[in-house]
Amino acid sequence: MHKLVILGGGFGGLTVFHHVAKWAREYQVEITVIDERETFLVKPSLPEVSLGEKSVREITFPLRQVVESYGTFIRNRVNRIDPVAQKVYLEEGVAVSYDFLVIALGAKKHFGEIPGFADYGHSMCTDVLAPRLAKAIEQFDKGNIVIGSMQVKQATRLPEVPYLKAACEGPVGEVAFMIDVALRKRGKRDDARVVCFSPSPIFFEDVGDKVHEAFGDLAQKHQVEVITDKIVRKIERDYVEFDDGSTLESALTIMIPAYYGPDAVANSGLGDEAGFAPTNEQFQHLDYANIYAIGDGASRTVPKLGHLAVEQGNVVASHLKQTLTGRGEVLPYEPEVFCIMNMGNRKAMLIRSNTLYGGQRDFAYYGQVSSLMKSSFDEYMLRFKGKMPPDMLQRLLNVYLGRLE
Ligand SMILES: Cc1cc2nc3c(=O)[nH]c(=O)nc-3n(C[C@H](O)[C@H](O)[C@H](O)COP(=O)(O)OP(=O)(O)OC[C@H]3O[C@@H](n4cnc5c(N)ncnc54)[C@H](O)[C@@H]3O)c2cc1C
Repeated sequence: MHKLVILGGGFGGLTVFHHVAKWAREYQVEITVIDERETFLVKPSLPEVSLGEKSVREITFPLRQVVESYGTFIRNRVNRIDPVAQKVYLEEGVAVSYDFLVIALGAKKHFGEIPGFADYGHSMCTDVLAPRLAKAIEQFDKGNIVIGSMQVKQATRLPEVPYLKAACEGPVGEVAFMIDVALRKRGKRDDARVVCFSPSPIFFEDVGDKVHEAFGDLAQKHQVEVITDKIVRKIERDYVEFDDGSTLESALTIMIPAYYGPDAVANSGLGDEAGFAPTNEQFQHLDYANIYAIGDGASRTVPKLGHLAVEQGNVVASHLKQTLTGRGEVLPYEPEVFCIMNMGNRKAMLIRSNTLYGGQRDFAYYGQVSSLMKSSFDEYMLRFKGKMPPDMLQRLLNVYLGRLE
């Protein structure tokens, strides 16, 4: 029996699980998924929770039931990995041994390093903070709403991977537009300024000029202001102070914190300077070929997007298949920024761009069809428990999008 242990049952981890489970019995692979949560959280729906449009319950499904359809689910916290002994250490001294390990623990979102965040900050990034933000938006009366990201630390083990100062700015734009729409509905828009800030010289540094243009036009139309090159020094009750000494009044400050690699990776000597796991293009750890790392916790994932975690999960599953069965092709990794930003009023902007990785594709499509695609995708994730739509459907979507481009 080969022992495959998957750490984290999020986007990346469940993708590997669903693929491998198809052939695991035939090739005698035992799969164990370890997660500290009992439920899968569809994070792309957290902006809707932040605006009070959905509850957390509506964007989760139980993990145990899914994993136990074939494998073993362990609900516990991963503390450390010993790559030489091939063991994972959990709370209360539990140890689990593996032949192959997939690290898919997501990133550590470091709210604690933002001075003033605990007292005055808000965020859409977790299932605890998003409902709290919904209350703050509901109670908002007037003033500035300031939304942006902290700067991510640069790591150097993979010089070919682009460095972005912000982990992922999609939710910043999403929440800004959704707040704009919500305030208009409440007749409160004239009492508010909505300001997005970025630590980078360009907001949405991960896409090209065409997407910038499309976003810029919409931002202007919705009076969403954008300021760049701003790194937060501290948050106070009624203002934000930036590293360049400037300040901005703020009645409601909403942050995406800096992302770091998961503690379990950093504590095990498996991380780069920011704690992310460095891998080759098949997502094998640079120092241990039987350890894979995918998703937000991997150095190669830039920006930190669920779409990339899923693509990487596909690559890893194909690599495991070839390694363990001698069958199939190893899929190439062809990264692109693909996301759909909810912009309120049943409209959304679909973004598809690979200029960050040297490609030519750079496309934005705004309207109700994009919104329908987003809600259908989120529903699909929930209904089919983390499975991606079948290849056939994805190919059809590609043809459709190709016509629009
Ligand atoms: C507000 C918001 C909106 C987003 N919108 C989009 C979008 O529209 N499109 C898109 O593509 N991406 C979006 N993303 C990004 C996307 O959610 C992430 O990129 C994706 O979840 C990363 O997948 P992952 O498998 O690496 O990690 P996750 O999905 O975070 O899964 C990690 C799992 O590991 C578990 N875990 C973590 N640490 C431990 C530990 N020590 N022990 C045990 N278990 C542990 C967690 O409980 C979790 O289940 C959004 C993110 C946010 C925050």
